[in-house]
Amino acid sequence: MDYTKAAKPQTNDGCLQCGAPLTQTEGAGRIRRYCSAEHGRLWRRRMRHSGFYL
Ligand SMILES: [Zn+2]
Repeated sequence: MDYTKAAKPQTNDGCLQCGAPLTQTEGAGRIRRYCSAEHGRLWRRRMRHSGFYL
């Protein structure tokens, strides 16, 4: 992934937790990266436990 370019169009790989397709919200705002809040929590917890999420 190239972080020097606009992140939004590149971030359409599906849920980081389970890979389910995501529907990005049009316009400015947060990029959806999880299909559900629960999967967001699971992912962040995993990152934190692995020492990556500081
Ligand atoms: Zn998911």
